Amino acid sequence: MSELKRALGIHGTASSHWVGDGFPVRTIFPSHGLTELSPFLMLDYAAPSRFEPSNRPRGVDEHPHRGFETVTISYQGSVDHRDSGGNSGTINPGDVQWMTAASGVVHEEKHGKEFTAQGGTFEMVQLWVNLPAAQKMSKPRYQGLSKADIPRVDLGPGAYARIIAGELNGVKGPAKTFTPVNVFDVRLEAGGSGELSLPSGQNSAIVLLRGEVVVNGTAALKGAAQVVPLSVSGERVFLDAKAESLVLALSGEPINEPVASYGPFVMNTEAELRQAVEDYRAGKMGRL
Ligand code: MN
Repeated sequence: MSELKRALGIHGTASSHWVGDGFPVRTIFPSHGLTELSPFLMLDYAAPSRFEPSNRPRGVDEHPHRGFETVTISYQGSVDHRDSGGNSGTINPGDVQWMTAASGVVHEEKHGKEFTAQGGTFEMVQLWVNLPAAQKMSKPRYQGLSKADIPRVDLGPGAYARIIAGELNGVKGPAKTFTPVNVFDVRLEAGGSGELSLPSGQNSAIVLLRGEVVVNGTAALKGAAQVVPLSVSGERVFLDAKAESLVLALSGEPINEPVASYGPFVMNTEAELRQAVEDYRAGKMGRL
């Protein structure tokens, strides 16, 4: 019988800011209370918001990344992506884009054309996953994971998880990762409950995007953009939904290396950050 993971407090934020003119996000971590969840660097959540029809796609213009991966999950609305590696695609609801910036990618992220023209509700997550030093300067990689490629695991009555990366109950997610990582998109109905397992020895957290959920009978989350870090020891996690809820379950083997970050670059040293700025300016990360 494996042990329960302990809930280690509740952190969250009610304040939001705009990324470009398309993404009104709350940065769930790093925040005042939760600064360290290696290998995860950052989690931005765009809670449901309404956009009126427009003839010009909103979003973020051309910008670089180096040294980590960006994972974009669409819940409502869509995102068009185009990068310097020649990759492009539309991330529709249920789809995930797992982009390994590694040595450098320049990309733009905009609302999808159809969504822009019709308007509607937009809801999205972007998660940043660090790379080990040995892979920070490797070749960039792009994984467009469509909704149909992401398997589901039942967690209990009115609760299931979509396995984006990692493994649950023998079911593997489609994302290729550089270090062991689990990313589960968990959906619960009001009154739904379920159990999942996250490896002992990994950093882990349960994130309530929206709804109302009790984690392991002790941590009650309500509203939006809240996170419960869990103990490294133990495996089992119980979720009990008081309202329809959207949850992310995250775990990963910590990367025990120094982190130096500057805007869109996450490296190990200040010198590497200066090099990243220089390389971007010199066009070494490519252009759109
Ligand atoms: Mn970006």
